[in-house]
Amino acid sequence: FEIIGAPIFDEKNMLKGAVIVLYDITELKKLEAMRKDFVANVSHELKTPITSIRGFAETLLDDNNLHDVDTAKQFLSIINEESKRLQMLIQDLLSLSKLEKDDSKIELATVHFTELVDEVMPVINQQAENNGITLHVESGENIEFKAEHSGVKQVMINLLVNAISYTPKGGGVTLLAEELEEYIHLQVSDTGIGIPKESLPRIFERFYRVDKARSRNTGGTGLGLAIVKHIVELHQGKIEVESEVNVGTTFHVYFPKR
Ligand code: ADP
Repeated sequence: FEIIGAPIFDEKNMLKGAVIVLYDITELKKLEAMRKDFVANVSHELKTPITSIRGFAETLLDDNNLHDVDTAKQFLSIINEESKRLQMLIQDLLSLSKLEKDDSKIELATVHFTELVDEVMPVINQQAENNGITLHVESGENIEFKAEHSGVKQVMINLLVNAISYTPKGGGVTLLAEELEEYIHLQVSDTGIGIPKESLPRIFERFYRVDKARSRNTGGTGLGLAIVKHIVELHQGKIEVESEVNVGTTFHVYFPKR
């Protein structure tokens, strides 16, 4: 508790009483701890690729290693990959910080599901093909609703990329859209590795990963679902997840139709 007090005087300037205010700062302290955790996490996430970039660059600068073209190429490709990871991380951090600004507002406009699919699919198809995953899209006719186009697109991309990344070769990913009475329901399901029950409540936290090594390998920043949740909540929508280990995962997103 934080305590603030002040005397109260009457009209003759005689002490009449006092007012004491007790502030419950548990919530503030919690927020402060979360902020510190976040800074520590970001620093760690930034440090890992930079350490690797510097290490390989320094080794390359050593003349002996420059003459071996194959080794040099291998080191350069690692430097390239790690720079890409840094870039993605910074992009995601910027998206998140924009979304978290208190005055963050969304510009609602009519969003057509088919247009979104046309924009999202070229990127996603390529990734699915590279990973040996079959993609299906199922949708009701003429699905449209009021939302922020770029936000809904980001939600779809993040969920689809995850579904593809966490599904072994030969599996399938399905995107479904349907109109409910008050909501538009988007569903992304996969036949992948699934998420253990105890991890389900935590997957929307920034930097939480079920398996750190696997997430790094698939190029994840650990921020994708935190961004998704923010966008959905800015729309006053809902997000739910069901999953079974080694069977698959389904994310349900509900956007109010308005
Ligand atoms: P990342 O960049 O690590 O994928 P996300 O915020 O997108 O970060 O997801 C957080 C974690 O949730 C992932 O590291 C992964 O463990 C788990 N996850 C997300 N989507 C799926 C999915 N479709 N199948 C299995 N696990 C998933």
